[in-house]
Amino acid sequence: MSLAGQLYKLQQVDLEIQKKQQTLNEIENHLADNKDLLTAGSKFTAQEQQLAEAKRKQKEMEWELEDLQEKMKQTNHKLYSGKTKNPKELVNLENEARSFKSKIVKKEDELLELMAQVEEMEAEVKARSKEVQKLQREWQQRQESLKQRKVEVEVELNRLSEMRQELAQPLDSENLRLYEQLRMTRGQAVAKVEQGRCLGCRITLPTSQWQRVKAGDLVQCNNCNRILCVE
Ligand SMILES: [Zn+2]
Repeated sequence: MSLAGQLYKLQQVDLEIQKKQQTLNEIENHLADNKDLLTAGSKFTAQEQQLAEAKRKQKEMEWELEDLQEKMKQTNHKLYSGKTKNPKELVNLENEARSFKSKIVKKEDELLELMAQVEEMEAEVKARSKEVQKLQREWQQRQESLKQRKVEVEVELNRLSEMRQELAQPLDSENLRLYEQLRMTRGQAVAKVEQGRCLGCRITLPTSQWQRVKAGDLVQCNNCNRILCVE
């Protein structure tokens, strides 16, 4: 095989290595990415805290209601026990009882509203908890398959890197340096020639140059500098 042909083969392997390396990077990025899971988790925690706060409020309201009911009971007792005879005092007690009654009704309404809210929040927290668990399971599964894929790609990369060594070994260092330099500046160092045209830059080669390429000489394209190769 001509030198250009050997370099072309090396390039094929290098391109494959590049592609696999990219795949590996993507896999590693995916493996490290648990953003969605964290977001769902913190939303869940926030909802749980809101629920706890609402429940605390509910308890507080229940105590306030009990307190009001107890006070009304005492007032009623004073009113109807017969111990209080003073009419003015009786009127005051009646007013007091009425005031307690209206406070109790208001408090009961507030409490009912809050209880409905708590119930709704409990359902939401339960649903969110299931959702987070589902996300966690899915994430875990994805991690497993990504790890497996990563191992596969690493094995392929090892195989390619061995292949590259085998291909590069017989080449002399000056040619390899030229190849690497062109790879750096041109992306691809070796270009095929088809029907007298360099496929790297699409320019038609002078006949003499094409002849030299066909003869197996190491020739670089006048236009794009790439090493020219015929099959
Ligand atoms: Zn060219």
